[in-house]
Amino acid sequence: MPERPLTAPAESPRTGDLPADEFRAAAHAAVDWIADYLENAVRYPVRSRVRPDDIREALPTAPPTRGEPLDAMLRDFHATILPGITHWNHPAFFAYFANSGSYPGILGELLAAGLNANGMLWVTSPAVTELEQVTLDWLRQLMGLGDGWFGEITDTASMSTFYALAAARERAGFDVRGRGMAARDDLPRLRVYCSEHAHSSIDKAVIALGLGHENLVRIPADAQFRLRPEALEAAMAADVAAGYAPIAVVPCVGTTSITSIDPVAEVVRIARRHHCWVHVDAAYGGVAAIVPELRYLMDGVDGADSFVVNPHKWLFTPMDCSVLYTRDPQSLKQAFALLPEYLVTRMQDEAINLMDYGIQLGRRFRSLKLWMVLRAYGADGLAERIRQHCELAREFAGMVHFEGGWELTAPVTLSLVCFRYVPPGATEAEIAALNAAIMEQVNARGRVYLSHTKLDGRYTLRLAIGNIRTERTHIELAWRELRDAAASVRPAA
Ligand code: PLP
Repeated sequence: MPERPLTAPAESPRTGDLPADEFRAAAHAAVDWIADYLENAVRYPVRSRVRPDDIREALPTAPPTRGEPLDAMLRDFHATILPGITHWNHPAFFAYFANSGSYPGILGELLAAGLNANGMLWVTSPAVTELEQVTLDWLRQLMGLGDGWFGEITDTASMSTFYALAAARERAGFDVRGRGMAARDDLPRLRVYCSEHAHSSIDKAVIALGLGHENLVRIPADAQFRLRPEALEAAMAADVAAGYAPIAVVPCVGTTSITSIDPVAEVVRIARRHHCWVHVDAAYGGVAAIVPELRYLMDGVDGADSFVVNPHKWLFTPMDCSVLYTRDPQSLKQAFALLPEYLVTRMQDEAINLMDYGIQLGRRFRSLKLWMVLRAYGADGLAERIRQHCELAREFAGMVHFEGGWELTAPVTLSLVCFRYVPPGATEAEIAALNAAIMEQVNARGRVYLSHTKLDGRYTLRLAIGNIRTERTHIELAWRELRDAAASVRPAA
């Protein structure tokens, strides 16, 4: 029998990766483009102007049969993909919660992709596990939290909260992990509590954990949009008397609509009386505690069981990077740890295996970008940037406050301003329609981008400052755009 050659005949299609030089050239061009883009993002309309299906229809419906060169992809990225991007990295992005992919964070993301390490077990990349532990301990110190917190990185606050409530359900002692929840006479209805202003991720976690959406009890808030402790106390006592079992309370530091701050310390005291887990949702607001004069935001948090904060929101770290801290990692393990034979290692008990603390097995090297962000700016630089965003928010609030026909609709606690246009004599329905029209006009012009909410049924505009490149000029631009839009939608006198 003739021997088969070890190398493929010359005419065979090439296998293995592309030539390194082709990658090098394309990657250098991409990095150059990223730096130009970030320095000049104002050239783009903040909100994409494409219509539904424009992007899909501009793309081939079937994959290529033969490989294409990288520079062809970069050309299509510019021509076809970019028009469909809403520019979160634009300094006048003020919608939802603004965020930043900063240079050190982007560098960390690039290197992590180069390594492609999977940190499911300690041994599958010790540095992935250990850098995550070190970086999260730095972040804990930066926010002024005490010792004794275990941290892990997840993709989003939604997932972090899901994990925390799964741990709470397990610690409540009903062996839901083993026996499930269906057809059990011994299982009372389990209840979770949060403010009426809490984020929908709490609802989703409760739904996904099989607790039943009706068992998430939303507690009324006070005039400052903070959960009312006495209402929480009354709701929990009534539930216990009716045979329900409270398992968790989720106060929020920085609610989504208005960045109100729930009274965490009081919530902890009440929850403890019912042996409940306390999970603090500080997805957006937590990082503000890096600013020394805002440290009070963490009041009471050290008494909680878990705490979520998202560096991918206001800590200049590219999507995605959420951090779940807990004082009770054992309960997380109790909820999630499993050890099939193919994952057994000799280091099983000596080292942390991050797969034990959640659902996902594979995990990417997210701590690298956060570590680089913390090092690049340092405690002082981070505090200065966050402080500046809060100052800009106060300045914008001042512009609104002193202008006739406009009002602030909530206190400015951090870097979000809630406000609206209120021409004299307009009804609530007219105000809502006018403000929706103002927002649409401003967003369609493309120079700034805002979003809205409703507060106690009142339509409200939101201006959220969180991008690392946002400066006073962008705030002034937003205010000009808003006033021009108001002038053009105002009903004739
Ligand atoms: N919690 C709060 C207070 C939020 O504002 C948000 C999103 O804005 C979330 C949770 C959900 O965050 P994620 O998109 O990381 O799931």
